Amino acid sequence: MSTPGFSINFAKKCIVVTGGNRGIGYAYTRAMAQAGANVAVIYRSSKDAEQVAEKVSKEFGIKAKAYKCDVSDTELVNKTMQQINNEMGPITGLIANAGVSVPKPALELTYEDFKTVYDVNVFGVFNTARAVAKLWLEKKHKGGSIVITSSMSSQIINQSAMNESLAQVFYNSSKAAVSNLTKGLAAEWATHGIRVNAVSPGYVNTDQTSHMDKKVRDYQAKAIPLQRFAEPHEMTGQALLLLSDHASYMTGGEYFVDGGQLIW
Ligand code: NDP
Repeated sequence: MSTPGFSINFAKKCIVVTGGNRGIGYAYTRAMAQAGANVAVIYRSSKDAEQVAEKVSKEFGIKAKAYKCDVSDTELVNKTMQQINNEMGPITGLIANAGVSVPKPALELTYEDFKTVYDVNVFGVFNTARAVAKLWLEKKHKGGSIVITSSMSSQIINQSAMNESLAQVFYNSSKAAVSNLTKGLAAEWATHGIRVNAVSPGYVNTDQTSHMDKKVRDYQAKAIPLQRFAEPHEMTGQALLLLSDHASYMTGGEYFVDGGQLIW
């Protein structure tokens, strides 16, 4: 069997990116579009998501469209994936990236906070992955690739957690849960040719990390072997690989893009 040359061309692919309108998700949207895919951008409430999709569509000459959909709403997720499949599809890949955090000291956390985080970071990922897998299985479509955004905090708790205002035990534990969920879904759907992997970023400069004050940020950056936070586009190489045929033997993995932080 021959080894394919290394190029990634997603022409005729349709990739769904949840939380694809800003932060890391926006970098994914652009990377998929640049590789030639049509992109469905799922967002929750941002006012400018439609303009964001339009801009990407014009820049890369592909179809990109924004879909307002709360990933924790099962009925809406199923309906939206079906709509995307009809309008842009057939869907060939999913990046389940939407995520939220509630930084708060543990003693102040409530059940509502728990639901806020787990509904999106765990159930939302499950919901979107299942909706897409269902479409693939109904059509007896052999194959498809799902990339889940977890976090290095699936494995470690940062020193910043010792600063109570930055502690986020629900967030960290939700990421451990979603990394395990990745393996479970990969095992369950492997015989259908569906691959499921996680990309786990370290600190990335987005709205999610913008609340950290400069002192804490500098302290944290020094603990990273590469000595800095990442920019969102630096997450995209791993996702492009996992969604491509170059990763045809990769499933159930968790890939850290963390500037070397897990070395310690
Ligand atoms: P941002 O806060 O910048 O963006 C979050 C995105 O998720 C937005 O597009 C938002 O949509 C969307 N979203 C949130 N809740 C929902 C929902 N219920 N339904 C649909 N969409 C939703 O996050 P980041 O880019 O920083 O993070 C992206 C992912 O990467 C998350 O899973 C996060 O946990 C993970 N991560 C981030 C790290 C970092 O340092 N930034 C480190 C490790 C992991 P809207 O704009 O409409 O609100």
